[in-house]
Amino acid sequence: MLGEILVDVTLAENPTQTRAEEIEHIRLAVRQLCAGYGEEYWLDMDRTLGYPTEFVAELTQAGFLGVLIPEEYGGSGLGVLEAAAVMEEVCRSGAHAGVCHAQMYVMGSVLRHGSDAQKKEFLPKIAAGELRLQSFGVTEPTTGTNTTSLKTTAKKTGDGYVINGQKVWISRIQHSDLMVLLARTTDQDKVAKKTEGLSAFLIDVKAAEGNGLEIRPIESMINHHSCELFFDDLEIPADNLLGEEGRGFKVVLDGMNAERILIAAECVGDGRYFIDKATAYANERNVFDRPIGMNQGVQFPIARCYTEVEAASLMVEKAANLFDTGLPCGAEANMAKMLASEASWKAGDVCMQTHGGFAFAKEYHIERKFRETRLYQIAPISTNLILSYVAEHVLGMPRSY
Ligand SMILES: Cc1cc2nc3c(=O)[nH]c(=O)nc-3n(C[C@H](O)[C@H](O)[C@H](O)COP(=O)(O)OP(=O)(O)OC[C@H]3O[C@@H](n4cnc5c(N)ncnc54)[C@H](O)[C@@H]3O)c2cc1C
Repeated sequence: MLGEILVDVTLAENPTQTRAEEIEHIRLAVRQLCAGYGEEYWLDMDRTLGYPTEFVAELTQAGFLGVLIPEEYGGSGLGVLEAAAVMEEVCRSGAHAGVCHAQMYVMGSVLRHGSDAQKKEFLPKIAAGELRLQSFGVTEPTTGTNTTSLKTTAKKTGDGYVINGQKVWISRIQHSDLMVLLARTTDQDKVAKKTEGLSAFLIDVKAAEGNGLEIRPIESMINHHSCELFFDDLEIPADNLLGEEGRGFKVVLDGMNAERILIAAECVGDGRYFIDKATAYANERNVFDRPIGMNQGVQFPIARCYTEVEAASLMVEKAANLFDTGLPCGAEANMAKMLASEASWKAGDVCMQTHGGFAFAKEYHIERKFRETRLYQIAPISTNLILSYVAEHVLGMPRSY
């Protein structure tokens, strides 16, 4: 499918090309697609809280959001390295990848833990864009990062489950047909390990809304389409269970490395976007009869950010390569996310400073990207929790919480 797109953008598919060459072709194709959606388009989405339906549809039809779906299910069967290149280019173009990135990785729960019937039913439709699976419901208002204490329950009935509880910050649910939901099937005080007793479910969002599921959008700093969810006796069939009952934490956890690597790649894209903008402006803006970029006070921060984004990009590549070869990559995926989110935020700050007062004018687009990239030091996992992971699992220090 992706090959067809490469032809569409006048790059001949060549079976002998190396992986690096193929990734360059993917980058070029994504850039060409994104060029059809300029920054005014994204500014308009931001102003009107709009959803870029056409952009997401084109990205899906082009095969880019199905990069990680195996060919037997209609996807491109490529790796996280290729997926990361797609997401990086989307962000570098000035677009907001948060509108669609989850369509790439949430399906990993179905791919790795779904039954054969679930895979055959859902994956080809997700690859074709007929079904949008870009919502996952984990976070709850009272438990936050402490996922294994979550309180939403799924009680078994004769032929299914009944769901009660609340979720918060669940993104894109109004633009998704399916959601992966994590809920408690065994009380916390009855499980041997705190990671047990949680189960993952596929929720048919359209069937659920109004029949036990209420969705309320959250007004927020960025146009991320996040909502609060209220479950009041929502009935779902038993075959909506994803993986084994009581083992849902693993279903969700298994997808997290891919998610972190892709978000890190988005941050690299944002970082490069800011550096491109800052460099161009530093070269063209004249104050005191010379370009502001002649001042080391202006050029050094940009050069430092460039260096930091390049370093973060290497960690993204390392994590993606480990993931694609099936090797453990938890530490690298986490470190990539932390380094890249900090580098992109710093690059955004320096880009603001370089633009002086004009940084605040919406028509320069920087303040929008600045707000968007800030998210990634908090979600999907905050920097502190990454540092805890590295301290405990990599360096062998005691668990802090
Ligand atoms: C725009 C947006 C979109 C989101 N989309 C989704 C989504 O689609 N699906 C979903 O399930 N969730 C989503 N989230 C939720 C997101 O994953 C959480 O906000 C994030 O994991 C942090 O959880 P919290 O907000 O409850 O913070 P808390 O857990 O309350 O933490 C608050 C602060 O305390 C720190 N902290 C907490 N415990 C410790 C500790 N033990 N040691 C050191 N520091 C600690 C944290 O690092 C953080 O800085 C989204 C959030 C936002 C803002």
